[in-house]
Amino acid sequence: TGACLKAAEASGALNAFVHHTPDVAMAQAKAADARIAGGDAPSMCGLPIGVKDLFCTKHVPGQAGSRILEGFLPEYESTITAKLFDAGTVMLGKLNMDEFAMGSSNETSVYGNAVNPWKVDDRQLTPGGSSGGSAAAVAADLCLAATGTDTGGSIRQPAAFTGTVGIKPTYGRCSRWGVVAFASSLDQAGPMTKTVRDAAIMLEAMSGFDPKDSTSADLPVPDFEAMLTGDIRGKKIGIPKEYHMDGMPAEIEALWADGRKMLEDAGAVMVDITLPHTKYALPAYYVIAPAEASSNLARYDGVRYGHRAKLDGGDGITEMYEKTRAEGFGHEVQRRVMIGTYVLSAGFYDAYYNRARRVRALIKKDFDDAFAAGIDAILTPATPSSAFGLGEMKNADPVQMYLNDVFTVTVNLAGLPGISVPTGLDKAGLPLGLQLIGRPWEEGDLLNTAYALE
Ligand code: GLN
Repeated sequence: TGACLKAAEASGALNAFVHHTPDVAMAQAKAADARIAGGDAPSMCGLPIGVKDLFCTKHVPGQAGSRILEGFLPEYESTITAKLFDAGTVMLGKLNMDEFAMGSSNETSVYGNAVNPWKVDDRQLTPGGSSGGSAAAVAADLCLAATGTDTGGSIRQPAAFTGTVGIKPTYGRCSRWGVVAFASSLDQAGPMTKTVRDAAIMLEAMSGFDPKDSTSADLPVPDFEAMLTGDIRGKKIGIPKEYHMDGMPAEIEALWADGRKMLEDAGAVMVDITLPHTKYALPAYYVIAPAEASSNLARYDGVRYGHRAKLDGGDGITEMYEKTRAEGFGHEVQRRVMIGTYVLSAGFYDAYYNRARRVRALIKKDFDDAFAAGIDAILTPATPSSAFGLGEMKNADPVQMYLNDVFTVTVNLAGLPGISVPTGLDKAGLPLGLQLIGRPWEEGDLLNTAYALE
């Protein structure tokens, strides 16, 4: 803990930690020592972790990367952090992220962007987003692991950009209670770690039924680590043809081919499959996610939480809302709120929101059909490129940024588990990741297949 605290405090240039909690860490480390001495050490006893700023942690500031939550001090602990603390972890601090988890580069954060510890010459790269601080901190050895959240790829894309492992579990596996909501039907928390084994151990600690989250699944949590045998003989791995996108870099195609070969060498059977509605996933996601966000973010009104704008004498409550939200939300969040409000409006609800929901059902059915035909897991690239330069996409057409999520959003729309595993480097020497998508609730099996790929 001492070494990690020192490393974290000296890592200002990465801007990964936005709030350090050395007092909490030292108290938890002492308690962990006592548990170890007493012979009752739980699975993650004494292991220092970082926590994405989206998780509410009792009496520790949390802003979800936004100005509008300035000064917010949660009075309660998220279920996930409570579970991780029960498992003996030590919290070093809160980690940078895109504002309200909206973004793919960590550049929408009120704290400024986090920086990828990997670089080429002097070019500074994004660690990805929205869990960019988590990915940067794990990759730079500032902590042993970190929590992330994934609504459309925010665990898997930063993992791929930093050479770390990130798993988004099945929707309902990890409680959303105390995690600031972005798009509630898509949001899931998960671990970001250095290895698949660490991911298995940490996911087990984070998982489980929570009566405080109405979408939490009342299912037993397997011993994921015990399932890491590396034996994947006879497993059927689907290769979806729709994931060969036009203009995809040759390096990504080559990485994917190498991954296929590795799994085949380990005894798996590769099967070409089709997921015909894939091309509609990105547009459907960018209707559904903003719709839910516009509703979830309505609570930030300057009354209940955080920031309130300075008012002029004649201002009424409407001006207070308007000024507060105009000052408190950044551009990307405002864009999402506007899109969301538009697609939910009476005149456009059927044309956009309802249609997107129908498309979502078809995307889910594509996966159901593949699994019903005996496919155990699906192998795809995690991202269409390696980490891009900071500032390169920030001022471009926002759709360019949204294209980063092309391989990951399908998994959230279908509620499935997905993992990104680092499997190679591009010609500049930057990490690349492959994604494995699993059957619902079969994270153990998915982790084992990822273990064979690692
Ligand atoms: N990049 C996607 C978005 O901006 C996904 C974000 C996420 O998974 N939280 O919505």
